[in-house]
Amino acid sequence: MPTFVYMTRCDGCGECVDICPSDIMHIDSTYRRAYNIEPNMCWECYSCVKACPQNAIDCRGYADFAPMGHSVRVLREEDKGTISWRIKFRDGREKNFVSPIRTTPWDSIPSPADLAVPSPEALNSQELANEPADLHIEALPALSPRQAKED
Ligand code: SF4
Ligand code: SF4
Repeated sequence: MPTFVYMTRCDGCGECVDICPSDIMHIDSTYRRAYNIEPNMCWECYSCVKACPQNAIDCRGYADFAPMGHSVRVLREEDKGTISWRIKFRDGREKNFVSPIRTTPWDSIPSPADLAVPSPEALNSQELANEPADLHIEALPALSPRQAKED
């Protein structure tokens, strides 16, 4: 379900532009408001929906999600740490879903720029950056040489 922006709510802050992994949220150069330049390329990750401080971004529901006409309203409530989806069907029924926006406190994830620069030896490691510490485990499980040979 690709996203779209209510231009009357958007204040052009650019949060959605910064967070979009598909780089399709752009600021209109004339109106200084955000818009989705290519809905077909939307990952439907809803990072922009969750990041928008103005609740200015909604999505267009697919027929299998909300058939026969509907509206999908997304509400981000940072103080409650939740994101709510309200689906209104044409016959008047409503369905509401509430989910946590994230499971860690707001602003608790450091920027990559705040982390130590990896050593050159890290290039030869199979671990990703800051693993295993960021997984909150002491070590990643590893195959024994015998298991690796069997696979
Ligand atoms: Fe970009 Fe994800 Fe928003 Fe689509 S849902 S516009 S991919 S941030
Ligand atoms: Fe507009 Fe929301 Fe994007 Fe900010 S995050 S530019 S208010 S749509």
